[in-house]
Amino acid sequence: MSNITSETTEQVLADDEAFVLQQNGINEAIAKARESLYKPSETIECIDCGDDIPEARKLAIPSTERCTPCAEAYEKRCKIHN
Ligand SMILES: [Zn+2]
Repeated sequence: MSNITSETTEQVLADDEAFVLQQNGINEAIAKARESLYKPSETIECIDCGDDIPEARKLAIPSTERCTPCAEAYEKRCKIHN
């Protein structure tokens, strides 16, 4: 009887362990999926001042190379030259 009990206990423990491992694997997969979903697009630095260009600006003007103040300054410079 005692043998059966101990085997049963081991089996339960093994199942629990497998369950935990599976959960960890799922959690890891979810975490990775979330990371890739919510990860902002790669950081773009302003070519004039080197600051990170805000996410909103990158979304509005994906091709932008400058932060807002520098872009405004650049546009002004262009206008002066023209
Ligand atoms: Zn800038």
